Amino acid sequence: MEPIETVSVDYVVVGAGVAGLRAAIALAMAAGNRDQPRIWVLAKDSLAESNTRYAQGGIAAALSDEDTVYFHLQDTLQAGAGLSDPEMARILVEEGVQRVEELIEWGAAFDRTGGRLVFAIEGAHSRRRVLHAGGDATGQEIVRVLMQKAQSLPAIEFHEYAFTMDLTVTDDGRCGGLLALMGPGPPRLVHVCCRGVVLATGGSGRIFRYTTNPPFATADGLGLAFRADLPFQDMEFFQFHPTALHVPGAPHFLLTEALRGEGAWVVNADGERFLFRYDPRGELAPRDVVARAMFLEIQRTGAPVFLDTSPLGESFARERFPRVTQVCAQFGLTLGRDRIPVIPAAHYYMGGIRTDAWGRTALPGLYAAGEVACNGVHGANRLASNSLLDGLVFGARAGQALWEDTQDVPVPKHVPLPAPYRKPSPTALPSEPPPFPDLAWEQCGLIRTEAGLKTALARLSEWLRTWPYPVPVRWAMEALNAMQTLSLLAGFAYLRQESRGAHYRADFPTERPEWRRHQAFRPSDIGYSVLGVGC
Ligand SMILES: Cc1cc2nc3c(=O)[nH]c(=O)nc-3n(C[C@H](O)[C@H](O)[C@H](O)COP(=O)(O)OP(=O)(O)OC[C@H]3O[C@@H](n4cnc5c(N)ncnc54)[C@H](O)[C@@H]3O)c2cc1C
Repeated sequence: MEPIETVSVDYVVVGAGVAGLRAAIALAMAAGNRDQPRIWVLAKDSLAESNTRYAQGGIAAALSDEDTVYFHLQDTLQAGAGLSDPEMARILVEEGVQRVEELIEWGAAFDRTGGRLVFAIEGAHSRRRVLHAGGDATGQEIVRVLMQKAQSLPAIEFHEYAFTMDLTVTDDGRCGGLLALMGPGPPRLVHVCCRGVVLATGGSGRIFRYTTNPPFATADGLGLAFRADLPFQDMEFFQFHPTALHVPGAPHFLLTEALRGEGAWVVNADGERFLFRYDPRGELAPRDVVARAMFLEIQRTGAPVFLDTSPLGESFARERFPRVTQVCAQFGLTLGRDRIPVIPAAHYYMGGIRTDAWGRTALPGLYAAGEVACNGVHGANRLASNSLLDGLVFGARAGQALWEDTQDVPVPKHVPLPAPYRKPSPTALPSEPPPFPDLAWEQCGLIRTEAGLKTALARLSEWLRTWPYPVPVRWAMEALNAMQTLSLLAGFAYLRQESRGAHYRADFPTERPEWRRHQAFRPSDIGYSVLGVGC
């Protein structure tokens, strides 16, 4: 399968969420006017679509009078269950203050009363420190401001409907660009050659049956890094958000953590606030504790659980959570009055492509930032509202480092295609993907066991062995990305014989001190075949 055309630019940023936009801005600003590079920013759908855009609750930063970066650091480390890297967390909370102040300078309209910023509190935060915009439309405001800033920088060009399939590597072992199916309209396979790439492809929730993530979140960045045999870290740690709307026929719309912060209760079908039976912090316990307690309560009672929003009152709920109010109303539910049926749902990947503090991966010229990356900052469990901050801080760092590391590297003249692209795929395309989201939910979800993980690995191995690759068909590549990512999740989870943070093993239900360490492997280290697709 040969590309239809080859294009040369200086840099490519894959992703137009908070991390990709902030990386592109940093790159363009570091290069300045002196040496204006050509920077492409790619998005697989329209530019308006990203996980960032859906973020509701807010962005954490130690900016209130009652707060300090020390308290924010302590809360981040505490939530990370012993695995949050202290140096990365320090960078996050310290530089986070600067990055958020800069966002305000660029025009971000965070909510205020009497001219003063308003700070919310969420689970596992010891202080009110979560800034929000438009009540519960924080992500939209952040994207608006970053997009406006990026569009003011002439070096940056946006390309929508540009589905990145794979990386390409030069003969001397540098990232030399990527292969993308470029739309809109009938997709053309284009080889984009460049000096360096930032991967900021965001979340992976769609590998699970129930998720808060939009349909594009199919783990593409992780899949293409799998095929490049890059090191991954902490892949067993996937965060489940406790409260996704659970109404027949409705998407699993996220009911922000801030609802519990402001006083909503989690109750069972008898109206009991059962969380206190599982943890003394009740509704304000960390996400993993709340989500698991809800899952167990659903199993124990065989009945649904609810978010009782009546303690908020209708008028406060309408004013503070306009978007959630609107979505609930579409399903005949009144926020601030009703009990809303909820279920825990896959939300955020703490694991990802292993990077250093500047987004560098093991492949020279390739950087990763945002949810696709892992430098250990979130450990085994991310503190609420720390991930937009992560995208801002480490996105900016990746863009800056890419410029500093590669300003003297020429755009490569010849970059070979990955071996499988040089011979046609002999396999026919199946009519639909295997049921991996059900497998993920049942065997690799909130409660895991050795037997379940082995089942998952065996079935994935079987499915992957015959899955066609490469194919210039987006849904088939998305399924491949999701299944390869899931095979890493299951493999890492199988190896970690303890429970910690978001990873819970029913056969090893407690933390074990000897496991207070990260796992980091290339797919080939744990016996996965990466040139083809098997595992
Ligand atoms: C419903 C919801 C609510 C949330 N609320 C909060 C919150 O209140 N606070 C908080 O801190 N975090 C929140 N999060 C998490 C947070 O929004 C995300 O972790 C964060 O926005 C990820 O940013 P990102 O830049 O890494 O990726 P994203 O914002 O997901 O952007 C990914 C980009 O990559 C592009 N892309 C992906 N694959 C490809 C491909 N193959 N080719 C080309 N382009 C590709 C996409 O088109 C998109 O532009 C929430 C998440 C969800 C889903």
